[in-house]
Amino acid sequence: MMKDIATPARTREILEKYGFHFKKSLGQNFLIDTNILHNIVAAAELTPDSGVIEVGPGIGALTEQVAKKAKKVVSFEIDQRLLPVLKETLAPYPHAEIIHSDVLKADLKETIEEKFEQGQDLMVVANLPYYVTTPILMKLLEEKLPIRGIVVMIQAEVAERISAKPGTKEYGSLSIAAQFYAKAEKMMTVPASVFVPKPKVDSAVLRLTIREEPPVQVQDEEFFFKVFHSSFANRRKTLLNNLIHNLASKEQKPEVEKALEQAGIDGRRRGETLSMEEFAVLSDALLEQLG
Ligand code: SAM
Repeated sequence: MMKDIATPARTREILEKYGFHFKKSLGQNFLIDTNILHNIVAAAELTPDSGVIEVGPGIGALTEQVAKKAKKVVSFEIDQRLLPVLKETLAPYPHAEIIHSDVLKADLKETIEEKFEQGQDLMVVANLPYYVTTPILMKLLEEKLPIRGIVVMIQAEVAERISAKPGTKEYGSLSIAAQFYAKAEKMMTVPASVFVPKPKVDSAVLRLTIREEPPVQVQDEEFFFKVFHSSFANRRKTLLNNLIHNLASKEQKPEVEKALEQAGIDGRRRGETLSMEEFAVLSDALLEQLG
């Protein structure tokens, strides 16, 4: 039987056969540890009926492990040079399909409709290219796709920010943005030694479980996002100053103060001390005062 792709020997063999050189600009760090891959797949809690969307299959290390558990895998790969490689490595898995595209430009809703059954259990599973972690995750969340969740390998520092609680130094607009859509859990940290080439930063596996209902009710979701983004724009500034400089204007200071009072929040506090519930109340009050 063929060895798994994600072993150091088989990976080296494949890379040599195709004369493949890593492109740093595409975040190419391939996994060469099957144990880590098993942990990623286990975190996704796939069933034999599950469908999986993968971002960046590389030479197919993770795709192969997912294909062993799921009914179908559809992977987006931007690097054309990897297409012939994947054709060979994934030949034993005809239910694994590659789409040659930048995932950020792809119409994911359409892909899901085309490639998966209606109502099928769907997960996103990926070892993400680190240069675009946040845009990819925010796209997956903001598009409100019919998925159960997302399990991804990302930079440890980003995993900590996404899963952070209020009052911690990691807590910021990314924590609220992600936690608005999903329950976030950092599953494990991963040493750089399980990748070729080794990345410069530590990595972690993050699991996002999509919420059926948002955790807070707001009158205007887009405005709510603007409010907390503005509140974190300058972490040394107070909440009041951040709101005046980044959301409203100096002339609107009285209205901002009134909204803070209405929400029962002290304007001298810093954004990182506010919970998502407090931002929701503040957002509605600011909407009323600023119109
Ligand atoms: N899944 C493989 C593994 O675990 O060994 C490779 C992971 S590697 C960290 C990231 C992969 O994403 C690379 O294959 C890279 O070419 C691909 N990639 C980078 N940017 C992309 C984008 N915008 N859309 C789709 N794939 C992308």
